[in-house]
Amino acid sequence: MTKITKGTSVREIRELGKKCSKCGNCCTYGAGFLIDEDIPKIAKLLQISEKELKERYLEENEMFNTKAWKPKAVKPGKPFGPCIFYDKKEGCKIHIAKPFQCRIMNCNPYAEQMIQWFYLNYLVNPDDPESVRQWASYLNHKKWVIEGGNLSDLVPDKKRLKKILDYGVLK
Ligand code: SF4
Ligand code: SF4
Repeated sequence: MTKITKGTSVREIRELGKKCSKCGNCCTYGAGFLIDEDIPKIAKLLQISEKELKERYLEENEMFNTKAWKPKAVKPGKPFGPCIFYDKKEGCKIHIAKPFQCRIMNCNPYAEQMIQWFYLNYLVNPDDPESVRQWASYLNHKKWVIEGGNLSDLVPDKKRLKKILDYGVLK
């Protein structure tokens, strides 16, 4: 198996994550985060403006103190549900322009490593103490982390890291 690290290239990650039989299973439990370049692509595919795309189909979510867009995914009375772009017959209605996270994070053997790669490259911000604290909290529930994802990798200065984790640095 290929070893994924924080520094693995986007091209390699796309390649490793591309296998998907489009069964739709994962699309019924929520949706993946978009990266900036996904927004114009999806808007173009749907022939609507980016503003309309955001208003009708997307919602902003926060993770590791970073905001990012995701397709809406709600079932009445439940906190999450099928993705707004998922159709039982068609599958993903925006397949050719689907969000980057949907492209790479799926049910293949690399999924867990790719989740961490995505978080580290798009959501965890080493310059934001709150983001680092939330990553530390995430790591508390994990038995392992990909290379480049340890707290000491993110904040090599031990004194600063301790201060951040002790809430001695708020911003
Ligand atoms: S955007 Fe497409 S691939 Fe992603 S969760 Fe929604 S239906 Fe599934
Ligand atoms: S990533 Fe896996 S679960 Fe999701 S649609 Fe593709 S094959 Fe199905």
